[in-house]
Amino acid sequence: MKKSFFFLILSLLVFLLLFVFLESLRLRGPEYHYRINDSGSRLHRDNNPEIASKALRLKGEKLGIVITIDLCPSSKPYEKKLFDALDAWGMKKGKSIPVYVCVAGKWIGKHPADLAAIKAYKHLKIVWVNHSYTHPVENGFLDNPKINFTSEVYVNYEYMQSYDLQPSKYFRFPGLVHNPERLVQLQKMGFVNLDADAWLGKGQPIKDGSIILIHGNGNESPLVVKEFIRFVKGYKGEIRSL
Ligand SMILES: [Zn+2]
Repeated sequence: MKKSFFFLILSLLVFLLLFVFLESLRLRGPEYHYRINDSGSRLHRDNNPEIASKALRLKGEKLGIVITIDLCPSSKPYEKKLFDALDAWGMKKGKSIPVYVCVAGKWIGKHPADLAAIKAYKHLKIVWVNHSYTHPVENGFLDNPKINFTSEVYVNYEYMQSYDLQPSKYFRFPGLVHNPERLVQLQKMGFVNLDADAWLGKGQPIKDGSIILIHGNGNESPLVVKEFIRFVKGYKGEIRSL
């Protein structure tokens, strides 16, 4: 009797340990990253899309790529060739392709005609991403108390709406610079951080599952734009949504 009781306790303990072990795998393993990627809400919480991307690949799926285009304040005209190439790709495929356009209010205000031209593309399904109003990337943006982060987000949100853009839940930090405090602030406002793991201007390579960052405000190097257009023309995978 005593012996069977002992075995019962032992098997319960083994079961419990196994459960805890499996649970920790679930929380830290590829499944976790895949799950959070699905909702898009916490993919970049740990600011490690590289890991998420690798983990996604472990599932053996053909992931495709996500294209994000930043329209930071600029005095130059928009990168027409880039948008044309993406639109042509969509036309060739016979469907609108998702493109995440991250727009700063200061860009909008200076380029209303460019904005209208971008909105007019027939084969782009544009998701409009808040990229702050003034794009305060200098002067210690992260911890400078003079920069009102929440106002940067809200003012731009309303500004986007005033130009008839439907802001999505995504926010792109200027320069992809953020810290845990800023991420908490952002989350409290109900926005989701959109990072990138293939910032082309920094020479980061495109991999399957990458979130690509390229500038569409005329400030990208012509070589980067040319190379990316060449890449898109020959791309056989899927350009997908988050
Ligand atoms: Zn920017």
